[in-house]
Amino acid sequence: MAARGRVAAFNLPPLPTVGEIIKLFRLQAQKQLSQNFLLDLRLTDKIVRQAGKLKNAHVCEVGPGPGGITRSILNADVEQLLLVEKDPRFIPGLQMLSEAAPGKVRIVHGDILTFKMEKAFPKHLKKNWEDEPPNIHIIGNLPFSVSTPLIIKWLENVSKKNGPFIYGRTQMTLTFQKEVAERLTANTGGKQRSRLSIMSQHLCTVENRFVIPGQAFVPKPEVDVAVVHFTPLVQPKIQQPFELVEKVVRSAFQFRRKHCFRGIETLFPESERLKKTEELMMAADVDPTLRPFQLSMSHFRNLCNTYRKMCEEDPSLFAYDYREELKQKKRQHLPKSTSQTEQTE
Ligand code: SAM
Repeated sequence: MAARGRVAAFNLPPLPTVGEIIKLFRLQAQKQLSQNFLLDLRLTDKIVRQAGKLKNAHVCEVGPGPGGITRSILNADVEQLLLVEKDPRFIPGLQMLSEAAPGKVRIVHGDILTFKMEKAFPKHLKKNWEDEPPNIHIIGNLPFSVSTPLIIKWLENVSKKNGPFIYGRTQMTLTFQKEVAERLTANTGGKQRSRLSIMSQHLCTVENRFVIPGQAFVPKPEVDVAVVHFTPLVQPKIQQPFELVEKVVRSAFQFRRKHCFRGIETLFPESERLKKTEELMMAADVDPTLRPFQLSMSHFRNLCNTYRKMCEEDPSLFAYDYREELKQKKRQHLPKSTSQTEQTE
């Protein structure tokens, strides 16, 4: 009956195994919630080791489910463990783990996408941004439908030094679908180079640590999974507001297979598109015939810095939305009755 796993400085008392907990509380994985569990404690130990030394750390685990990773975190002798779990079926099993590690575990039944991380940890753990990262870690194996919007939200928090990053450069160890992990870490020219590569790498050191084959999960997902580690950078590689960088990068990758100027020109209203695109590419010293995936971080830095200057010269420019202009044009070309119906809807 005893839980297996790496023996560390702290040992949980004998507990039912994760598999037994699943049976005991009838925790069938719900497919519509993309629940895939890790039952092999050697694997959960390996995931937790990617976070680094956790002795005396404060950790937030997102989506603990039946608690495999949770056990490995507790075995690493952390000071405090905060669990944020959305599905109420898992709470009794997590309470059992909490009783086995008295005073260490706090369980929040809630949604990590709306949970306020600013107050999750004690104030005295705060570090200056320029200092070493605080002894605070976020660890989680979440559904893919949650992990991608969540990392985008947390990257925005890194840029603004809020959310979990009011404590300093909080580190994150998270799982993603293998292809998403490849996008997060892709280098210039790489097949998977995309918006996510620039948004993550300009703010963090991002490392794709190892791949977990789909068959390691119960039930087995269609895809493989990768464990990715993020440490926020002291100096972002692009020193512009998150929204501006996001707009430039999103535009640049709009037409992946075309020359990069095709996407970048969507930053400008049709009336001055050609002239302004040429001006931007020249000032940023970017060859307009490069494909978006061939643009380096310094190309993006130059593009963002120049676009910022252009927005300062023309304050209406940043609000310009290419898709909105397209929609309006479409409406103008629809027969009158249809366009009126659309407007009243
Ligand atoms: N961490 C466990 C493991 O590795 O076996 C469970 C992994 S399962 C892929 C994802 C877990 O995240 C489930 O327990 C699910 O209920 C939880 N979850 C899903 N969306 C969530 C959200 N928005 N906030 C918190 N937990 C969430």
